[in-house]
Amino acid sequence: MTVFAEHPDSVLARLAALRAADAPTHGGHVLSYVYDSGLSEIDELAASAMRLVQPVNGLDPTTFTSVAVMEREVVGFARALLGGDSDVVGSVTTGGTESCLLAVKTARDNWVGDGAPRLLAPVTVHAAFHKAAHYFGLVLDLVPVGSDGRVSADAMVERMAPDVALVVVSAPSYPHAAMDPVAEVAAAALERGIDCHVDACIGGCVLPFWGGLSSWDLRVPGVTSLSADLHKFGYAPKGASVLLTRGRDRQRGQYFATTRWPGYPVVNATMLGSKSAGALAAAWAIVHALGRDGLATLAASCERSTAALKDLVDGIEGLRVVGMPVGPLLAVAADESVAPERRVDPHHWADRVRAHGWLLQLQPGFTQADGSRLPHTTHLTVTPVTERVLDELTAALTLAADEVRGVPAVTAEQVFGALPPAVAAGLASPDAPPLDAQTAFALLGLIGLDDGSDGLPERMAPLLALIEALPAPLTERLLVELLARLVEPRG
Ligand SMILES: *Cc1c(COP(=O)(O)O)cnc(C)c1O
Repeated sequence: MTVFAEHPDSVLARLAALRAADAPTHGGHVLSYVYDSGLSEIDELAASAMRLVQPVNGLDPTTFTSVAVMEREVVGFARALLGGDSDVVGSVTTGGTESCLLAVKTARDNWVGDGAPRLLAPVTVHAAFHKAAHYFGLVLDLVPVGSDGRVSADAMVERMAPDVALVVVSAPSYPHAAMDPVAEVAAAALERGIDCHVDACIGGCVLPFWGGLSSWDLRVPGVTSLSADLHKFGYAPKGASVLLTRGRDRQRGQYFATTRWPGYPVVNATMLGSKSAGALAAAWAIVHALGRDGLATLAASCERSTAALKDLVDGIEGLRVVGMPVGPLLAVAADESVAPERRVDPHHWADRVRAHGWLLQLQPGFTQADGSRLPHTTHLTVTPVTERVLDELTAALTLAADEVRGVPAVTAEQVFGALPPAVAAGLASPDAPPLDAQTAFALLGLIGLDDGSDGLPERMAPLLALIEALPAPLTERLLVELLARLVEPRG
């Protein structure tokens, strides 16, 4: 007798075929989402560590004591790396989003006051904080940034008041790699008794080795918590981040505990119940194997490649790097200082770069609360493996720019022009009623996004233009439909 409906080998073969259709996770051709150390030993180590803890339930470190030891040591490593003293404690979470959610939840629960607390941050703060405000009932107060993507400390300080439960700054921000004025904001927050979180999800494991930075981490007085993702520049598989918090009493607000049900006592530092210890074990193994020096060596490679790419982009006629990026990422915009026929639209550019086999990330333009406009950009995250493919990448970026120089950006009018006029008018109206699933799906069809094929459309520039042109609630609803349909059972 067999319990198998399908031979395990055949199941695995099908998974391998599915994986072959994914964007490549290694080799440096995808410049977002994946963080390739370029060292196969690191990937092997992570896989072995994950396998060793595969059956463990990370829910209960008193039953599975390895979980407590690994978490303690990873938190200790991160604390030393990020300037925390013995008053700093922390948790390993499943990712940057969970670290950010928990930082906000903790601050909300520690906040004393009436009404809804406020979450104060630059407009460039990661979307995870929008999610946190939404989940935990805070009012999101977003401060406009300058054209370099950097917020002014004064603009942040001006808005500090007793209803602010948490002020957040990024080190650096994801959209433009801008280093927010951590020291000034944290000092002002400290003076007013407001908690201050540094979102170093992307920077936390590289910026300690970056040249020429003034303090931005837990060394800064007034910084009360900090998030750093191990599954980014800690090169761990997805599912590992650290949230560090200053002060045991403050951090206890992060926990959820209840004995008020007929089952086992529940005491959770993080959002999940039963959870894998896989990413924690992998992160623990990598942290020990690489140590500070290993991370420093990999960071140095990122720094060289980022500098080379920044020089390259600045040297391409029609493109420019936004602001003064800090860390291994940068945003590329059209250079408005050259004549329109010499400009390179960063989204057409990204689409052409993709045709040459490299995946860059398109970011929409954005109108801030003060009416100022942040241009649409293309994002590149640089990893250690980038250095190995720098020549090929340089050639692709340069060629793609030559191919689209002078081609104007896709406009809202063009996007709407492709739709039946009644539909276009309805879409653009801010007070259109909420869409039901069927209508939303039909609209996706009109836009050409329902073709049933998996993955991204061939050209992303028109989709991004649509995102910029439509009212946000509508775009959000359409994207929800797109993603929801993707996982509906077929046939
Ligand atoms: C990646 C990132 C996050 C969110 O992290 P996830 O691991 O994707 O959940 C938050 N903030 C910044 C600055 C990031 O780069």
